[in-house]
This record gives sequence, structure tokens and C-alpha cells, in this order.
Amino acid sequence: MKPKLKVLMVSPEVVPFAKTGGLADVVGSLPLALSKLGCEVRIVLPKYKIVDECEVNLLDTDKEVNFKVGNTMQKARILSTKVAGVVTVYFLEHDEYYARDGLYGTTEGGDYKDNLARFSFFCGGILELLKKIEYKPQIIHCHDWQTGLIPVYLKTLYQNDTFLEGIKTLFTIHNLAHQGVFPKVEFPLTGLDEEIFTPDKLEFWDKINFMKGALIYADILSTVSKGYVQEIVTTEYGCGLEGVLKERKDKLYGIINGLDYKEWDPSMDKGITMAYDVNTIERKVKNKKALQQENNLPVDSNIPLIGMITRLAAQKGLDILDEIIDELMELNIQLVLLGTGESKYHIRMEQIKEKFPTKASIHLTFDPELAKRIYAGADMFLMPSKYEPCGLGQLISLRYGTIPIVRATGGLKDTITNFDPKRRIGNGFVFNEYDSQSLLSTIKQAIDVFCNDKESWKRLMLNGMSADFSWEHSAKEYIKLYEEALGIR
Ligand code: ADP
Repeated sequence: MKPKLKVLMVSPEVVPFAKTGGLADVVGSLPLALSKLGCEVRIVLPKYKIVDECEVNLLDTDKEVNFKVGNTMQKARILSTKVAGVVTVYFLEHDEYYARDGLYGTTEGGDYKDNLARFSFFCGGILELLKKIEYKPQIIHCHDWQTGLIPVYLKTLYQNDTFLEGIKTLFTIHNLAHQGVFPKVEFPLTGLDEEIFTPDKLEFWDKINFMKGALIYADILSTVSKGYVQEIVTTEYGCGLEGVLKERKDKLYGIINGLDYKEWDPSMDKGITMAYDVNTIERKVKNKKALQQENNLPVDSNIPLIGMITRLAAQKGLDILDEIIDELMELNIQLVLLGTGESKYHIRMEQIKEKFPTKASIHLTFDPELAKRIYAGADMFLMPSKYEPCGLGQLISLRYGTIPIVRATGGLKDTITNFDPKRRIGNGFVFNEYDSQSLLSTIKQAIDVFCNDKESWKRLMLNGMSADFSWEHSAKEYIKLYEEALGIR
């Protein structure tokens, strides 16, 4: 039998322990898919305050890691648990760094001032953890800037470490806009040699950039859709790192995120009013009525109900929605929006709620349970993103027979095709130009099909529900990248 490929997955957030966005879903479900394909996967994340609220039994391994941040030796206890009986999850417990209300910043939105220290320690602590528990993975799969110093440390501070020797790294970009950029005065805290604070390494316009470090030092790079790969090498989408990415283009791959089809399954979902599947699609309307009732909206299955579950940020198209939302709400529609984010959008959405109390229901919170009821109850799901590395919302919507209305960018472009009523192909409504009028006219098209062409609407639902965006395919693609990094492909 082939020996199991050993992969250590490192992420600042992982479902079910800590989540702010899609990254947590990905790192919560990819390891299970890889395990099914015969890999041995372990995960590490920081032990945030919120981890205590999960009903999991954390074992104290009685081991501790030490890693210097600047001149001070920092310590963390190693805790562990097991997920689904197969994946071991380690937590670095350093309360001064991680036991806070937010993961990366306060709930008001400001980043924590000591993020460089917190995540330098996380990266260095992980390498120390491997030595402490005497576990040597073949691959460390790093996700987003918070893990960016791992490839850097491996090839600098730890380059002569005999235990870690030979470990390869894959760095996955989930959102290039968040890079972990810090003032250069903090550079000594990383423990790295000043020699690598240069424009071809970690320096970025006189600042330190964790993401850039990873893009230069990791063995293989990936991002979460092929569409986003094409975009991030351009000035428009490259967030200043397009040059570095272009240089490494031969090692940059796009793998679309899968969805955990067990977690997101309308036929098994205990959190929705009425379960349904592709053969009992007519039952979905019960969820719509329940959602209308719950949200104090007129209960009427003929009124198109638009759902939106999102971070309230310009990236998600909130600025173009802002321009047309009053006009949109004048139409015979209902809107249920769930989201948190920038305060200007909170204020705007509160106004909409007041102005259209019988049409708009706005929830400015983070509520995974309500999210499920919206995915199940809405007719359409709005995702007019300016850019979207992959996007999970549209994939969840497809699964729940809720028709996505999206802008053609990144992963949205790769997964949603505009409905063609003549050929009856497509699974959503798509617009190209990032402007409010294109958005409004596309929503109107969707409303028109919903109201006047029930047959086509049903076809759209069936097309979406029968698509397969589960992990199986994408997990195999990741294994190919691991093998490439190891030189066995
Ligand atoms: P992001 O860029 O935020 O990661 P994705 O579409 O990839 O966007 O993933 C967002 C994930 O977070 C989805 O699972 C979505 O349902 C969930 N989500 C976003 N906002 C909320 C919220 N306010 N409450 C509950 N779930 C949310």
C-alpha cells in the first residue's frame, strides 16, 4: 500500500472552531476530503476565546512551544482534539495573544495593534510544535497572510534544522486584499535577518508584507479559482503584488473551493422548516413562507424574495447596491439581508429597513443558523462582488435551489453561467460591468423570469441543485499540487 501523504494544514480560522469567512469553511472541510482520499491531515490554529464556546473536548498535550518574538521568549501550551475521528487539530494557547473577542481585530473593525507579534509567533510556534510533538509532515499547506511567515522561516531561520529539512510548502491565497502589512520598525520582532527586508523579499513600499514573503518563499502557490488566478496578475486586481505573482506564474494554480455537501444539504438540514431535494423541489416554498413570517414580511409565494448573506464591504458590491437600493426596493420584491461589516453600510441598511418595513428585513449580525434559513427560503441570492476569489455563498445557494445573481469575476465567473432560456442551460444571472445599472437590470431580468416563466425558473433551480461542487474533485487537485511540491509528479 502507498504510504499516506502527510499534510499539515495551517489556518488562522477553521470551522467549527473559529470563523469570520469562507476560509474557515474551506479549512474545516478540505482535510476531511483529503482524508477520504488517503492523506493523513492535521490542522493547527490559534486558541481564540471563541474556541471555548465550541462544545469540544480539548486535551492538554502537556507540551509547550517556545518561540522568540523580538527579544522575549513567548510560550504557548499545545492543546488538541480530533475531528470526525480522523483529523487531529492542534491549538496554540497563548491567552495574551489570542484570548480576545475578535480574531484579527476588535468588533468595531480596527485591527489589533500587535498582529505582527501574534502571527509571527503563530508561524514560528507551529514549526516548534512539529519538533515538540515529533511529527514531520511532508507538506505544510498554509492559508492566507497570517501563515505567511511559515515558508519564510523554513527557508531562513530554520534552513539548517535537520528535523524540518525537506518539508515543502503550499501557500493558498484566499483574498489578496488582506496581506498583513506592518510598519518596518516592527521587523525585528519577526526574528528574521534585516538582509531580507528588501524589495525582492519582504519589503513592500517600506513596510513588511507577510503575504509577499509567502509568495516568494513558498514552493507552490495557489488561489481559489482559475478566474482569480488570471485576475491577480493584473494591476486592477493584483493589490500591488501583481509583479511578484507574475514572476511566479509557473507555480501559481487555481483550484475552486468545494463545499461540504453534508453540512450544506437541504434534504438533511435540521435547521430549516421543510427538507427538500431535487425530486421534492416544490417543498422549498414552505421555507420561503416560514422566512417571510419570521421576518414580518407579507407571506406570499409570488413575491420574489432576494436573500443576501455577506460581509458588508465594497468588495461584496455594497457600493453599487447602495446606489440603486431605493429604486430596487420600489419594485414588488422582498429583501432579507444578513451581514456585518463597515459601519457606513450598517447605517445605510438601517435606513432601508425603516423606509421599507414591509419589504426589507435587515439583520446586522453574524448568525449561521439564520443564514441557513435564508439560503433555503430565498428565491434569489445576490452577490454582486467587485472581486471574488472563489465565493461560497453562490455555491451554497445552488445547493439550496436559490438562484444566484452575480457579477462575472473570479470564482463567480467560474461557477455561475448566465441562464439561456432557449437552450435551458445556465444556473444563474450574470452581469459583467461593475456598475449599479448593470446590477439593477440583471436583478430585473431575474424577477421577470421568476414572475413570468415558471418553467424556466424550475429549470434554473434543477440545474443548480444537480451541479456538483463538492470537495471530491478539488481535493484531488490539491493532492496533485502536493505531489508537484514534493517532486513526485
Ligand atoms: P468571504 O469573502 O466573506 O469569505 P465567501 O462567500 O467565500 O465570502 O464565504 C462567506 C461565508 O460566510 C459563507 O459561508 C456565508 O454564508 C457566511 N457568512 C457571511 N456573513 C455571514 C453572517 N453575517 N452570518 C452568517 N454567515 C455569514
